[in-house]
Amino acid sequence: MEKGESSTAELPEDEVWAKLIPMDSRYSEIELRLKETVICSEVKNSSSGKQEWCKITRNVDIVSAVMQNKSSKEILVDETAVQDEDAAVIKCGSEILLGPRDEGYVKYRFEIMPTEESRRYIQVSLDVEYAKCCICLNIWHDVVTAAPCLHNFCNGCFSEWLRRSQERRSSVLCPQCRAVVQFVGRNHFLHNIEEDIMLADPSLKRSTEDIALLNSCASIKSPLVLSSRKSRRKRERSPSDAAESWEHSCPQCDTEFGGFQCNESTVHLQCQACGGMMPSRLNIGVQQHCLGCDRAFCAAYWHSQGVNRSNLHPLCSPETFKPIAERTISRIPSLAHEKNHYEQNITERCIRQMGRSLQDVVADWILKLDKREIDRTRMPLNHAEMITSRTPTCSECYDKLVSFLLYWYRITMIRHPLPSEEAQREDCWYGYACRTQHHNPEHAQKRNHVCRPTRGVYNAKLLYDNRQVSRVKEAKYEKINKMTKNYAHVDCTFDVWAVCSSVNEAQENDLEKF
Ligand SMILES: [Zn+2]
Ligand SMILES: [Zn+2]
Ligand SMILES: [Zn+2]
Ligand SMILES: [Zn+2]
Ligand SMILES: [Zn+2]
Ligand SMILES: [Zn+2]
Repeated sequence: MEKGESSTAELPEDEVWAKLIPMDSRYSEIELRLKETVICSEVKNSSSGKQEWCKITRNVDIVSAVMQNKSSKEILVDETAVQDEDAAVIKCGSEILLGPRDEGYVKYRFEIMPTEESRRYIQVSLDVEYAKCCICLNIWHDVVTAAPCLHNFCNGCFSEWLRRSQERRSSVLCPQCRAVVQFVGRNHFLHNIEEDIMLADPSLKRSTEDIALLNSCASIKSPLVLSSRKSRRKRERSPSDAAESWEHSCPQCDTEFGGFQCNESTVHLQCQACGGMMPSRLNIGVQQHCLGCDRAFCAAYWHSQGVNRSNLHPLCSPETFKPIAERTISRIPSLAHEKNHYEQNITERCIRQMGRSLQDVVADWILKLDKREIDRTRMPLNHAEMITSRTPTCSECYDKLVSFLLYWYRITMIRHPLPSEEAQREDCWYGYACRTQHHNPEHAQKRNHVCRPTRGVYNAKLLYDNRQVSRVKEAKYEKINKMTKNYAHVDCTFDVWAVCSSVNEAQENDLEKF
């Protein structure tokens, strides 16, 4: 098998992880590639050429290293002498000088190359008091931010506040500073911080019942527009006001449709496809959000209200947001098979060879999805477990779903003949996660990439995206707990992964890897 390349926390052997940069430009930089490198340095006054100078060993944290003196002279590290065979920790920016000052030795600055990891993560310290919701006085849960004051609350707490304000038909005031709230939306950046706090101090976690209660109140999925029409109408209307009121109003603000008209406390959602507004209406049995991405889309709502067009307001055509079963597809989405055109071609030929159409195959797999025959762990949609063929989704989520289904279609192809030359290809070690497939056409063609990673990725994933994995694990544990509750006679000491819901062996393989 051939070595591909993958996002791994282990540094590849051939990558430069640090450099020694000479202060004297006549000398060249020394690149460190190996975990342990003996530096044979040129020393200005030496006539005998290179000599063994020191050994630099990378530390696991990849932000420091150990320098061991291998010369017979002392080495100065940031002005501190390190004697023969002694060692010192060096960090990015450390200055290293062999031998006493003023004897003409070259001084080097040690520099660590930024890794993908270090570029991604920086440490921030935070007073948890700043991460508390002023309504419930706990650390935020599913944090939302109110604008323009930018105060933060739990989604559940603020939703309840919003509901009460609407009952009173008053404008929504920020519970913290009493400013009129014009927008509120989930804050994904702070959400990550909220999760980090819980990881750092689990004692701050609330009980499962509390969380369940909060979640049941939480109604903010996509940004809500709360500005009231009343306050706008009080003012003198100027042309800019007219533009503003157009921006923040919807067809039902002016006219009653389907027995409903907006009032001054109506909360509006902005459609992510056309930019138009619609009233946010809970419990009317119409999806206003895509379950795959939690974004608001207006098509299904206006369809249900019998509003098909408006001269004043943007409206979506029903095509943009409709149930999965009602959608049709004629081309493999560009997202499919991690955007690997070669694999997309093979899938296309497989389908043709079977005398079928893409639409047929996708319909088959949607049926399997409905029967819950497919492991949804890797389904790239938000509420993967809730999705059925009757779920309306946006076009983007539909493409993601089809791509996911085509992966399973290809995986199960192992049992059916692939076009002959493709059937003989070996799996790439890094499977679908291989990055080489995107920039090396020869590699993309030579190896199969519609397969699970067998190396690198799972390890790397654990290190790299630990939380993601533990979340997946948690979800599985939860599922298993539910199962074992239903089957009280089942011995609970069995290997939990082995019994995980899925029926087919391929899925079990996936689970074992975790
Ligand atoms: Zn590969
Ligand atoms: Zn709260
Ligand atoms: Zn505020
Ligand atoms: Zn309206
Ligand atoms: Zn979507
Ligand atoms: Zn729309």
